[in-house]
Amino acid sequence: MEIIFPLMTMIDKSYINFLEMEDSYRHKGLRRNLLGQLRLKGIENEMVLDAMEAVPRHFFMSSAFLKFAYEDKAFPIGADQTISQPYTVAFQTSILNVSPGMKILEIGTGSGYQTSVLAKLGAKVFSIERQKSLFLKTDSLLSKMRVKAQRYYGDGYKGKPAFAPYDRVLVTCGAPEVPDALLKQLKIGGLLVIPVGEGSFQEMLRFTKNSETDFSVEKFGKFSFVPMLEDREMRH
Ligand code: SAH
Repeated sequence: MEIIFPLMTMIDKSYINFLEMEDSYRHKGLRRNLLGQLRLKGIENEMVLDAMEAVPRHFFMSSAFLKFAYEDKAFPIGADQTISQPYTVAFQTSILNVSPGMKILEIGTGSGYQTSVLAKLGAKVFSIERQKSLFLKTDSLLSKMRVKAQRYYGDGYKGKPAFAPYDRVLVTCGAPEVPDALLKQLKIGGLLVIPVGEGSFQEMLRFTKNSETDFSVEKFGKFSFVPMLEDREMRH
């Protein structure tokens, strides 16, 4: 004990954080394996796959769950929320057609993983989260990781008019309907990717804004997301 005690006091919190943020060869190997699985499932966009290879997914989960960080599954991150399944992140990011420099509004920051993948693609990201505790936790993680993305606590139904119009809008929670504000805040020619529907499954939709009043919509199949909740249900 006499020897261990002084050592323990030297190991301060920042050192422990540093240990948690390690991205070792083992992590990189697990990640490469996951990317192989995503390719087999049909993800072909090399820019998206490269970005996902560069973002250590295990940083966004508790270190106790390392084993699950590189499985192709959604995982609980606290506050009744989940980090999206890697396939879903890869799929949504692929159909979003991102180019560097684009202005992207993301609804549902959650763990910050999708936010980090968009930032890695060179986009200017504005991300909104409605749960205060999650917002604060992710805000500090993304600062620590030096992810360049603007983070806001608020209601995604309203979008973020102050920085509109956006080239792309990405919704990462299941929306009962398409919020008008999000269509309004899109640039002409811009895309909105949004899973729509109540219950366990949503239809992945992509809207293209042809003019202020004309939109076309494409369907991309069923996915499962946590619900997009309204303002009146906002928890602090
Ligand atoms: N992109 C996230 C996915 C998190 S799950 C990731 O990669 O981890 C979806 C998130 O949407 C949850 O954190 C939930 O709190 C948030 N959310 C739900 N309704 C919202 C709303 N109206 N505005 C903003 N965020 C919302």
